[in-house]
Amino acid sequence: MLNVCGYWSTVPQPLTNLLFLLPLLNMRFRFAIWFWSVLLGCLALMALRLGMSSQHSTTAAAQLGGVALTPAAEAAVWELPFVGPLIPPPPDDLTRTIAAALSRGDSIDRSLKHHHVPSDQLEPLYQALYAILNPAQVKPGDYYEVVIDTSDVIRRFCYTPHRTPDRPIEVELRDGQFVARQLRLPLERRVERLEVRIEDNLSNAISEAGEGCALSDLIADDIFGAVIDFQRDPRRGDRLGIVFEKLYLDERFVRYGHILLARYEGERVTELAVRYAATEGEDAYYNASGRSLGRMFVLKPLGVNRITSRFNRQRFHPILKKQRPHLGTDYGAPTGTLVWTTARGQVAFAGWKGGYGKLVEIVHPNGYRTRYAHLSKILVHKGQLVEQKEIIGKVGTTGLSTASHLHYEIIKDGHHINPELINEGHTVPTLADDLLPDFVHQRDALLHVLELGPRTWRYASSLTSAPL
Ligand SMILES: [Zn+2]
Repeated sequence: MLNVCGYWSTVPQPLTNLLFLLPLLNMRFRFAIWFWSVLLGCLALMALRLGMSSQHSTTAAAQLGGVALTPAAEAAVWELPFVGPLIPPPPDDLTRTIAAALSRGDSIDRSLKHHHVPSDQLEPLYQALYAILNPAQVKPGDYYEVVIDTSDVIRRFCYTPHRTPDRPIEVELRDGQFVARQLRLPLERRVERLEVRIEDNLSNAISEAGEGCALSDLIADDIFGAVIDFQRDPRRGDRLGIVFEKLYLDERFVRYGHILLARYEGERVTELAVRYAATEGEDAYYNASGRSLGRMFVLKPLGVNRITSRFNRQRFHPILKKQRPHLGTDYGAPTGTLVWTTARGQVAFAGWKGGYGKLVEIVHPNGYRTRYAHLSKILVHKGQLVEQKEIIGKVGTTGLSTASHLHYEIIKDGHHINPELINEGHTVPTLADDLLPDFVHQRDALLHVLELGPRTWRYASSLTSAPL
């Protein structure tokens, strides 16, 4: 099929050359060349017309200057005498979008009104939005986007909490009604390794390496919470290496994922923790030989390390001004700090009890009891079953107390024992024999990741894909 481009490119080259020779030829030849030129020109024009007609009638995508056009684009081509670049579609001017972030003291309502979002639709919008979003969780830094059409109708509202940008809430206008739903955007998981040297304490070492305190909490509480006392055990020069996951959304760090391996090498304590699922979905941490790092008790009932008074059978009491044993451990912490159970059990007492102030007492298997005293707030009730590390109250200074702190006791068969020593000497069974080869394989693969590259302290590198 002959087309526009094809026509110009098929003008015979010898003919153009001959036209330049015209003045040199005699009349007879001049006339003959003129005659044949006109004839050839007419034939070519007829062919062009035929070609364009057949192009217009074809239903297949037309090949035009090497660009494949869909049938819908053919009409436009036919209207144009010369072929130029395709005309882009007109800009979508049917909606406008307002995007804003909440500043301190801002509310969604104040911000929307400030940006002149039509206020007559806000009430039904909020009804849909707050069916999912807890207004108490609206925080400065959260951001939203609202799409409004030319009739000033809100078409879509999307609210993104800045701490959980992977869980935005989208409200859409469907059939005249606002419908809200929470989205779960996929996060990219990156595995990184980090090695730090302890100068004074774990959280300082980790923050100096550029990581957040959430990571030190995971290590101190979730992994080594029953086997390393990070208040008592670390010494300058101790080393910690971890292989851990960081979760990203569009290149932006969102939060930490799992810690796959943690190795603490210290003067007083050395421990390896490997994350492993002995049964599907039951991930837990095991030491190098496959023993669980979990214990009946975690070492601490809260997320602080500051011990202000230790277990002591002959202590001089600061308020009573006399010798009186201190049968527990005191943790200095701000009022409101969350307190958790150190082992699973059942609430035996929840209320006010003399010098203890607001007290929670829990009974555990094998004759154990724990007490959590001077609370500002109790969040459980008598008879309630609680899991290990379940939140039961908040630190305060109620009862016989000079400053905000938690007094924590463990009693075994009626005798107080030192909470700091609760897990000492305790052993737990190893993983089942048939799981050990798989566990060892996983342990060694992770240790290999930890040891990749130069062993530079505070060394952090990013591996774009998980090695496992
Ligand atoms: Zn105390």
